[in-house]
Amino acid sequence: MTIHFNKTFTVQSSVEYIQDALSCQTNGDGEYTKKCSLWFEKQFKTAKALLTTSCTHALEMAACLCNISNGDEVIMPSYTFSSTANAFVGRGAKVVFVDIRPDTMNIDEDLIEAAITNKTKVLVPVHYAGVACEMTKINEIAKKHRLFVIEDAAQAVMSEYQGKACGTFGDFGAFSFHETKNYSMGEGGALLIRDLAVAENAEVIREKGTNRSRFFRGEVDKYSWIGWGSSYLPSELNAAYLWSGLEIAEQINDSRLIAWNHYYERLKGLQKRSLLELPFIPKECKHNAHMFYIKTENHDVQQKLLKYLKNSKIGAVFHYVPLHSSEAGQKFGIFHGEDRFTTKESSRLIRLPMYYGLTEMEIDYVVKTIESFFRG
Ligand SMILES: *Cc1c(COP(=O)(O)O)cnc(C)c1O
Repeated sequence: MTIHFNKTFTVQSSVEYIQDALSCQTNGDGEYTKKCSLWFEKQFKTAKALLTTSCTHALEMAACLCNISNGDEVIMPSYTFSSTANAFVGRGAKVVFVDIRPDTMNIDEDLIEAAITNKTKVLVPVHYAGVACEMTKINEIAKKHRLFVIEDAAQAVMSEYQGKACGTFGDFGAFSFHETKNYSMGEGGALLIRDLAVAENAEVIREKGTNRSRFFRGEVDKYSWIGWGSSYLPSELNAAYLWSGLEIAEQINDSRLIAWNHYYERLKGLQKRSLLELPFIPKECKHNAHMFYIKTENHDVQQKLLKYLKNSKIGAVFHYVPLHSSEAGQKFGIFHGEDRFTTKESSRLIRLPMYYGLTEMEIDYVVKTIESFFRG
Protein backbone atom coordinates (compact mmCIF):
# COMPACT_ATOMS: atom_id res chain seq x y z
CA MET A 1 0.00 0.00 0.00
CA THR A 2 1.24 3.49 -0.92
CA ILE A 3 -0.25 6.47 0.88
CA HIS A 4 0.49 9.84 -0.61
CA PHE A 5 0.94 12.91 1.52
CA ASN A 6 -1.58 14.82 -0.57
CA LYS A 7 -3.96 14.05 -3.41
CA THR A 8 -5.28 16.38 -6.10
CA PHE A 9 -8.91 17.26 -5.43
CA THR A 10 -11.34 16.32 -8.20
CA VAL A 11 -15.05 15.65 -8.30
CA GLN A 12 -17.22 15.36 -11.40
CA SER A 13 -18.19 19.01 -11.25
CA SER A 14 -14.53 20.11 -11.36
CA VAL A 15 -14.33 18.96 -14.97
CA GLU A 16 -17.83 20.20 -15.82
CA TYR A 17 -17.20 23.70 -14.52
CA ILE A 18 -13.80 23.98 -16.19
CA GLN A 19 -15.41 22.93 -19.47
CA ASP A 20 -18.15 25.46 -18.93
CA ALA A 21 -15.58 28.21 -18.33
CA LEU A 22 -13.80 27.15 -21.52
CA SER A 23 -16.94 27.76 -23.51
CA CYS A 24 -17.87 31.05 -21.78
CA GLN A 25 -14.84 32.96 -20.52
CA THR A 26 -11.32 31.97 -19.58
CA ASN A 27 -9.80 35.32 -18.57
CA GLY A 28 -10.39 36.62 -15.05
CA ASP A 29 -13.36 38.09 -13.19
CA GLY A 30 -16.11 36.12 -14.93
CA GLU A 31 -19.05 34.28 -13.38
CA TYR A 32 -17.00 31.69 -11.44
CA THR A 33 -14.77 34.33 -9.89
CA LYS A 34 -17.90 36.24 -8.86
CA LYS A 35 -19.48 33.12 -7.38
CA CYS A 36 -16.37 32.32 -5.33
CA SER A 37 -15.89 35.90 -4.07
CA LEU A 38 -19.55 36.23 -3.08
CA TRP A 39 -19.38 32.90 -1.32
CA PHE A 40 -16.46 34.10 0.83
CA GLU A 41 -18.14 37.39 1.60
CA LYS A 42 -21.33 35.65 2.73
CA GLN A 43 -19.83 32.60 4.42
CA PHE A 44 -17.18 34.50 6.36
CA LYS A 45 -18.97 37.85 6.73
CA THR A 46 -16.29 40.08 5.28
CA ALA A 47 -16.81 43.37 3.43
CA LYS A 48 -14.83 42.29 0.38
CA ALA A 49 -13.11 39.17 -0.95
CA LEU A 50 -10.90 39.31 -4.04
CA LEU A 51 -9.71 36.15 -5.75
CA THR A 52 -5.97 36.28 -6.45
CA THR A 53 -3.32 34.25 -8.23
CA SER A 54 -1.90 33.01 -4.91
CA CYS A 55 -1.83 33.62 -1.18
CA THR A 56 1.67 34.99 -1.73
CA HIS A 57 0.15 37.63 -4.01
CA ALA A 58 -2.70 38.35 -1.60
CA LEU A 59 -0.07 39.04 1.08
CA GLU A 60 1.84 41.28 -1.34
CA MET A 61 -1.33 43.24 -2.06
CA ALA A 62 -1.95 43.63 1.67
CA ALA A 63 1.62 44.87 2.22
CA CYS A 64 1.10 47.40 -0.56
CA LEU A 65 -2.25 48.53 0.90
CA CYS A 66 -0.53 49.11 4.25
CA ASN A 67 2.01 51.30 2.42
CA ILE A 68 4.95 49.25 3.64
CA SER A 69 8.18 51.03 2.76
CA ASN A 70 11.91 51.05 3.50
CA GLY A 71 12.74 50.62 7.16
CA ASP A 72 9.29 49.59 8.37
CA GLU A 73 9.22 46.64 10.74
CA VAL A 74 6.81 43.75 10.56
CA ILE A 75 6.30 41.21 13.34
CA MET A 76 5.62 37.55 12.53
CA PRO A 77 6.59 34.06 13.67
CA SER A 78 9.75 32.50 12.26
CA TYR A 79 7.93 29.20 11.97
CA THR A 80 6.12 29.96 8.71
CA PHE A 81 6.42 29.82 4.93
CA SER A 82 8.75 32.20 3.06
CA SER A 83 5.76 34.01 1.48
CA THR A 84 4.72 35.50 4.82
CA ALA A 85 8.02 37.40 4.94
CA ASN A 86 8.57 37.98 1.20
CA ALA A 87 5.52 40.18 0.88
CA PHE A 88 7.11 42.76 3.20
CA VAL A 89 10.77 42.24 2.36
CA GLY A 90 9.95 43.05 -1.26
CA ARG A 91 8.93 46.52 -0.15
CA GLY A 92 12.02 47.14 1.99
CA ALA A 93 10.69 46.14 5.39
CA LYS A 94 12.66 44.44 8.12
CA VAL A 95 11.13 41.27 9.49
CA VAL A 96 11.08 40.82 13.26
CA PHE A 97 10.53 37.22 14.26
CA VAL A 98 8.90 36.31 17.54
CA ASP A 99 8.91 32.88 19.20
CA ILE A 100 5.97 30.48 18.94
CA ARG A 101 3.88 28.73 21.57
CA PRO A 102 4.82 25.08 21.76
CA ASP A 103 1.20 23.93 22.08
CA THR A 104 -0.26 25.40 18.86
CA MET A 105 2.96 26.34 16.98
CA ASN A 106 1.43 29.81 16.58
CA ILE A 107 3.08 33.14 17.42
CA ASP A 108 3.22 33.64 21.20
CA GLU A 109 0.86 36.57 21.72
CA ASP A 110 2.52 37.38 25.05
CA LEU A 111 5.87 38.09 23.36
CA ILE A 112 4.62 40.47 20.66
CA GLU A 113 4.47 43.71 22.62
CA ALA A 114 8.14 43.59 23.63
CA ALA A 115 9.15 43.37 19.96
CA ILE A 116 7.30 46.55 18.98
CA THR A 117 9.38 49.68 18.19
CA ASN A 118 8.41 53.04 16.70
CA LYS A 119 9.12 51.51 13.28
CA THR A 120 6.67 48.63 13.67
CA LYS A 121 3.79 48.83 11.20
CA VAL A 122 2.16 45.43 10.90
CA LEU A 123 1.50 42.28 12.93
CA VAL A 124 1.21 39.08 10.90
CA PRO A 125 -0.36 36.19 12.79
CA VAL A 126 -0.17 32.87 10.93
CA HIS A 127 -2.89 30.35 11.80
CA TYR A 128 -0.75 27.24 11.69
CA ALA A 129 -2.52 24.01 10.71
CA GLY A 130 -5.80 25.93 10.57
CA VAL A 131 -5.77 26.55 14.33
CA ALA A 132 -6.34 30.22 15.10
CA CYS A 133 -3.90 32.49 16.91
CA GLU A 134 -5.10 34.37 20.02
CA MET A 135 -6.78 37.06 17.95
CA THR A 136 -8.44 38.93 20.84
CA LYS A 137 -5.06 39.68 22.40
CA ILE A 138 -3.35 40.34 19.06
CA ASN A 139 -6.03 42.83 17.96
CA GLU A 140 -5.84 44.57 21.34
CA ILE A 141 -2.08 45.07 20.92
CA ALA A 142 -2.57 46.30 17.35
CA LYS A 143 -5.18 48.82 18.45
CA LYS A 144 -3.09 50.10 21.33
CA HIS A 145 -0.02 50.65 19.12
CA ARG A 146 -1.97 51.61 15.97
CA LEU A 147 -0.66 48.75 13.88
CA PHE A 148 -2.18 46.93 10.94
CA VAL A 149 -3.04 43.26 11.30
CA ILE A 150 -2.61 41.03 8.24
CA GLU A 151 -3.65 37.44 8.88
CA ASP A 152 -1.81 34.76 6.98
CA ALA A 153 -4.85 32.48 6.89
CA ALA A 154 -3.41 30.36 4.05
CA GLN A 155 -4.18 27.20 6.00
CA ALA A 156 -7.27 28.43 7.82
CA VAL A 157 -10.15 28.55 5.33
CA MET A 158 -13.28 27.50 7.32
CA SER A 159 -11.48 27.82 10.68
CA GLU A 160 -12.90 29.97 13.46
CA TYR A 161 -11.84 31.74 16.63
CA GLN A 162 -14.60 32.49 19.15
CA GLY A 163 -17.17 31.79 16.45
CA LYS A 164 -15.68 34.24 13.91
CA ALA A 165 -13.95 33.18 10.71
CA CYS A 166 -10.16 33.24 10.43
CA GLY A 167 -9.12 35.83 7.88
CA THR A 168 -11.71 38.34 9.13
CA PHE A 169 -10.02 39.55 12.32
CA GLY A 170 -7.34 41.70 10.73
CA ASP A 171 -7.42 44.62 8.33
CA PHE A 172 -6.61 41.97 5.75
CA GLY A 173 -6.72 38.19 5.56
CA ALA A 174 -4.97 36.03 2.98
CA PHE A 175 -6.20 32.57 1.93
CA SER A 176 -4.39 29.99 -0.19
CA PHE A 177 -5.96 27.67 -2.72
CA HIS A 178 -2.74 25.96 -3.60
CA GLU A 179 -3.10 22.30 -4.50
CA THR A 180 -1.96 21.25 -0.99
CA LYS A 181 -4.54 23.33 0.89
CA ASN A 182 -8.10 22.34 1.89
CA TYR A 183 -9.67 23.97 -1.18
CA SER A 184 -7.73 24.04 -4.41
CA MET A 185 -7.61 25.99 -7.63
CA GLY A 186 -4.20 24.54 -8.50
CA GLU A 187 -2.51 27.82 -7.70
CA GLY A 188 -4.53 30.67 -6.26
CA GLY A 189 -5.62 32.65 -3.24
CA ALA A 190 -7.90 35.36 -1.94
CA LEU A 191 -7.56 38.65 -0.12
CA LEU A 192 -10.22 39.45 2.47
CA ILE A 193 -10.66 43.13 3.20
CA ARG A 194 -12.44 44.52 6.25
CA ASP A 195 -12.86 48.11 5.05
CA LEU A 196 -14.86 48.71 1.85
CA ALA A 197 -13.09 52.05 1.30
CA VAL A 198 -9.78 50.19 1.00
CA ALA A 199 -11.30 47.60 -1.34
CA GLU A 200 -11.31 50.05 -4.23
CA ASN A 201 -7.55 50.54 -3.96
CA ALA A 202 -7.16 46.79 -3.79
CA GLU A 203 -9.08 46.38 -7.04
CA VAL A 204 -6.75 48.88 -8.72
CA ILE A 205 -3.61 47.06 -7.53
CA ARG A 206 -5.09 43.74 -8.65
CA GLU A 207 -5.93 45.00 -12.13
CA LYS A 208 -2.74 46.53 -13.48
CA GLY A 209 -3.25 49.85 -11.73
CA THR A 210 -6.51 50.62 -13.52
CA ASN A 211 -10.01 51.37 -12.26
CA ARG A 212 -11.47 48.75 -14.61
CA SER A 213 -13.64 47.23 -11.87
CA ARG A 214 -15.38 50.55 -11.30
CA PHE A 215 -15.86 50.91 -15.05
CA PHE A 216 -17.52 47.47 -15.27
CA ARG A 217 -19.82 48.41 -12.40
CA GLY A 218 -20.76 51.55 -14.34
CA GLU A 219 -19.32 53.88 -11.70
CA VAL A 220 -17.01 55.66 -14.17
CA ASP A 221 -17.52 56.08 -17.92
CA LYS A 222 -13.99 55.08 -18.92
CA TYR A 223 -11.13 53.33 -17.22
CA SER A 224 -7.48 54.34 -17.12
CA TRP A 225 -4.19 53.96 -15.28
CA ILE A 226 -4.60 55.55 -11.87
CA GLY A 227 -1.85 54.02 -9.70
CA TRP A 228 0.67 51.24 -9.27
CA GLY A 229 -0.69 47.80 -9.93
CA SER A 230 0.08 44.35 -11.17
CA SER A 231 -1.92 41.41 -12.50
CA TYR A 232 -3.22 39.47 -9.54
CA LEU A 233 -6.44 38.09 -10.98
CA PRO A 234 -6.67 34.39 -11.71
CA SER A 235 -8.13 32.82 -14.84
CA GLU A 236 -11.75 31.68 -14.83
CA LEU A 237 -10.47 28.14 -15.43
CA ASN A 238 -8.92 28.15 -11.97
CA ALA A 239 -11.94 29.84 -10.41
CA ALA A 240 -14.25 27.23 -11.97
CA TYR A 241 -12.16 24.48 -10.41
CA LEU A 242 -12.21 26.23 -7.02
CA TRP A 243 -16.00 26.57 -7.21
CA SER A 244 -16.37 22.78 -7.47
CA GLY A 245 -14.74 22.57 -4.03
CA LEU A 246 -16.47 25.54 -2.39
CA GLU A 247 -19.85 24.18 -3.41
CA ILE A 248 -19.22 21.16 -1.17
CA ALA A 249 -17.09 22.98 1.38
CA GLU A 250 -19.03 21.67 4.41
CA GLN A 251 -18.72 18.12 3.15
CA ILE A 252 -14.97 18.48 2.58
CA ASN A 253 -14.54 20.06 6.01
CA ASP A 254 -16.57 17.34 7.77
CA SER A 255 -14.73 14.58 5.97
CA ARG A 256 -11.31 16.02 6.87
CA LEU A 257 -12.38 16.43 10.50
CA ILE A 258 -13.48 12.79 10.63
CA ALA A 259 -10.06 11.73 9.32
CA TRP A 260 -8.30 14.07 11.77
CA ASN A 261 -10.31 12.71 14.72
CA HIS A 262 -9.60 9.16 13.62
CA TYR A 263 -5.85 9.83 13.65
CA TYR A 264 -6.20 11.43 17.08
CA GLU A 265 -8.14 8.53 18.61
CA ARG A 266 -5.82 5.92 17.17
CA LEU A 267 -2.62 7.72 18.25
CA LYS A 268 -3.77 8.66 21.76
CA GLY A 269 -2.21 5.53 23.21
CA LEU A 270 1.26 6.48 21.97
CA GLN A 271 0.84 9.94 23.47
CA LYS A 272 -0.13 8.36 26.80
CA ARG A 273 3.09 6.38 26.72
CA SER A 274 4.97 9.66 26.03
CA LEU A 275 6.29 8.36 22.69
CA LEU A 276 4.80 11.26 20.79
CA GLU A 277 2.70 14.41 21.18
CA LEU A 278 -0.56 15.15 19.40
CA PRO A 279 -1.89 18.56 18.30
CA PHE A 280 -3.64 20.81 20.81
CA ILE A 281 -6.80 22.72 19.90
CA PRO A 282 -7.62 25.62 22.29
CA LYS A 283 -11.29 25.76 23.26
CA GLU A 284 -11.82 29.10 21.47
CA CYS A 285 -10.78 27.48 18.18
CA LYS A 286 -12.79 25.52 15.65
CA HIS A 287 -10.22 24.10 13.25
CA ASN A 288 -10.52 22.83 9.70
CA ALA A 289 -8.34 19.71 9.87
CA HIS A 290 -5.88 21.23 7.44
CA MET A 291 -3.08 19.17 8.86
CA PHE A 292 -2.46 16.26 11.18
CA TYR A 293 0.96 16.47 12.78
CA ILE A 294 2.73 14.59 15.52
CA LYS A 295 5.80 15.58 17.51
CA THR A 296 8.47 13.07 18.42
CA GLU A 297 10.71 13.27 21.47
CA ASN A 298 13.51 14.99 19.55
CA HIS A 299 15.00 15.67 16.12
CA ASP A 300 16.82 12.36 15.99
CA VAL A 301 13.61 10.34 16.45
CA GLN A 302 11.87 12.59 13.91
CA GLN A 303 14.51 11.79 11.27
CA LYS A 304 14.35 8.06 11.97
CA LEU A 305 10.57 7.95 11.90
CA LEU A 306 10.45 9.98 8.67
CA LYS A 307 12.80 7.48 7.07
CA TYR A 308 10.80 4.55 8.40
CA LEU A 309 7.56 5.99 7.00
CA LYS A 310 9.21 6.67 3.67
CA ASN A 311 10.40 3.08 3.46
CA SER A 312 6.83 1.99 4.20
CA LYS A 313 5.63 4.15 1.25
CA ILE A 314 3.86 6.66 3.45
CA GLY A 315 4.11 10.30 2.41
CA ALA A 316 5.02 12.04 5.66
CA VAL A 317 7.03 15.27 5.73
CA PHE A 318 8.70 17.68 8.11
CA HIS A 319 7.67 21.33 8.01
CA TYR A 320 9.27 24.74 7.91
CA VAL A 321 12.94 25.31 8.47
CA PRO A 322 12.50 28.37 10.73
CA LEU A 323 12.90 31.51 8.62
CA HIS A 324 15.37 33.17 11.00
CA SER A 325 17.82 30.31 10.50
CA SER A 326 17.53 30.38 6.70
CA GLU A 327 19.86 32.33 4.40
CA ALA A 328 17.28 34.97 3.45
CA GLY A 329 15.90 35.18 6.96
CA GLN A 330 19.31 36.14 8.29
CA LYS A 331 19.63 38.81 5.64
CA PHE A 332 16.16 40.34 5.99
CA GLY A 333 15.16 39.69 9.57
CA ILE A 334 16.07 39.42 13.20
CA PHE A 335 14.77 37.18 15.94
CA HIS A 336 13.52 39.22 18.86
CA GLY A 337 14.01 37.62 22.24
CA GLU A 338 14.91 34.02 22.90
CA ASP A 339 14.28 31.13 20.50
CA ARG A 340 12.90 28.80 23.13
CA PHE A 341 10.49 26.82 20.99
CA THR A 342 10.72 27.71 17.29
CA THR A 343 13.77 25.59 16.46
CA LYS A 344 13.17 22.89 19.01
CA GLU A 345 9.50 22.25 18.26
CA SER A 346 9.84 22.47 14.47
CA SER A 347 12.71 19.99 14.44
CA ARG A 348 10.54 17.26 15.96
CA LEU A 349 7.34 17.75 13.99
CA ILE A 350 6.04 15.35 11.32
CA ARG A 351 3.03 15.93 9.08
CA LEU A 352 1.05 12.81 8.25
CA PRO A 353 -0.94 12.20 5.04
CA MET A 354 -4.09 14.34 4.98
CA TYR A 355 -6.43 15.01 2.10
CA TYR A 356 -10.10 14.87 1.15
CA GLY A 357 -10.94 11.21 0.60
CA LEU A 358 -8.28 9.72 2.90
CA THR A 359 -9.90 6.52 4.25
CA GLU A 360 -9.92 5.14 7.78
CA MET A 361 -8.20 2.03 6.44
CA GLU A 362 -5.33 4.17 5.14
CA ILE A 363 -5.11 6.02 8.45
CA ASP A 364 -5.05 2.68 10.29
CA TYR A 365 -2.13 1.61 8.12
CA VAL A 366 -0.23 4.82 8.92
CA VAL A 367 -0.91 4.36 12.64
CA LYS A 368 0.14 0.69 12.58
CA THR A 369 3.36 1.65 10.85
CA ILE A 370 4.10 4.27 13.51
CA GLU A 371 3.31 1.72 16.24
CA SER A 372 5.66 -0.81 14.68
CA PHE A 373 8.39 1.85 14.53
CA PHE A 374 8.10 2.39 18.28
CA ARG A 375 8.10 -1.38 18.94
CA GLY A 376 11.56 -1.13 17.42
C1 LIG B 1 0.66 27.78 1.54
C2 LIG B 1 1.06 28.93 2.36
C3 LIG B 1 1.38 30.18 1.79
C4 LIG B 1 1.50 30.40 0.30
O1 LIG B 1 0.37 30.11 -0.42
P1 LIG B 1 0.41 30.21 -2.02
O2 LIG B 1 -1.05 30.22 -2.38
O3 LIG B 1 1.11 28.98 -2.48
O4 LIG B 1 1.11 31.45 -2.40
C5 LIG B 1 1.65 31.24 2.63
N1 LIG B 1 1.63 31.11 3.97
C6 LIG B 1 1.35 29.92 4.56
C7 LIG B 1 1.32 29.84 6.04
C8 LIG B 1 1.08 28.80 3.76
O5 LIG B 1 0.80 27.63 4.36
